[in-house]
Amino acid sequence: MSDIRYKFLDLKEVNAPWADGINAAIRRVAESGRYIGGEEVKRFEEALAASVGSGVRAVGVSNGLDALRLIFRAYIELGIMKPGDEVIVPANTYIASILAVTDNGLKPVFVEPRLDTLNLDTALIEHSISPRTRAILTVHLYGRVCYDTAMRAAADKYNLRIVEDNAQAIGAVYNKSIVTGALGDAAAFSFYPTKNIGAIGDAGAVTSHDPELLSAVKALANYGSDYRYHNIYRGLNCRLDPIQAAVLSYKLTYLAKECERRHKVAEVYERCIDNPLITKPLYTETGDMVWHQYVVMTPHRDELRDYLLKRGVETDVNYPTAPHRQPCMEEYSGLNLPITEKIAREVVSLPISACTSVDDAAEIARIINQFQK
Ligand SMILES: *Cc1c(COP(=O)(O)O)cnc(C)c1O
Repeated sequence: MSDIRYKFLDLKEVNAPWADGINAAIRRVAESGRYIGGEEVKRFEEALAASVGSGVRAVGVSNGLDALRLIFRAYIELGIMKPGDEVIVPANTYIASILAVTDNGLKPVFVEPRLDTLNLDTALIEHSISPRTRAILTVHLYGRVCYDTAMRAAADKYNLRIVEDNAQAIGAVYNKSIVTGALGDAAAFSFYPTKNIGAIGDAGAVTSHDPELLSAVKALANYGSDYRYHNIYRGLNCRLDPIQAAVLSYKLTYLAKECERRHKVAEVYERCIDNPLITKPLYTETGDMVWHQYVVMTPHRDELRDYLLKRGVETDVNYPTAPHRQPCMEEYSGLNLPITEKIAREVVSLPISACTSVDDAAEIARIINQFQK
């Protein structure tokens, strides 16, 4: 493993260019005497909300899964959903999306993805709606917007909330006009260190246009307390750490640059990879994809990964097991989801982090083009 020339991801390397700003942020909090909530958290919430769009507000929380769990829990507390209700979910996602639904006693209804976008096939939504359906959980997987007029029409027709899992797509733009986090009724962000804007630990946020929903999320994340020593919900402790907030306020100022950097790497892969054994991801110039991952597909996945590793190229698989096939989801293991399972068998993520330059991408593409069965 010592002769890896192209690492998949090295978080130390990712954060090295930002060291001065990160250290200054940590120090500011350490010296402030304010270690829970306070100005740093408020400042980050305002910056995030401003980056998402006008009329949107943000509440910082502990991580992306908690952001999603709190959204559904808040809808339950507000009487908009109740345990046993159904939520339409993409079958092809990271399991955290599904855990947020099941954690609240809601029932995930798995819907197959499209093979071109790998995102939920919105044409199948209406077919999956029952009288108990209350929401659509849309996941902008790998950084690609999953939202369209069909999804909006189904939501409006059946009075469903649209909840965005925006863990992977911060900064992505639908239809050159609306930023992810402002498309649905509420959105969850993750700032897990490997995400496009990563904290130096766990962090997350909820965005919404709906002040009532945000107040419920904020209270639920703070023991269910709306004001001091007054608890309206049986809440949790899911607050955003001010150290992470301070680091994120700084890193968020580089969001546009980060999107542009990833796009440039993806553009090189798109232009240079040419191998009939490899299917490249759908490529667009519209800004609806922020390339959290650059995911190719091949029926010869293990051979390709082996071949690349021998030539110094590290890859990853996001994700090798579909959520409904995980041991903890046994009750859903019998579902017939062939597209999702094909994706789980065939996807390979190529390097696209800050460790990957455009020259690296060109060289990785050259190596991929020589891959044979
Ligand atoms: C990372 C991720 C989450 C969970 O975020 P955490 O901050 O790790 O809890 C949820 N959904 C998706 C799609 C993710 O990629």
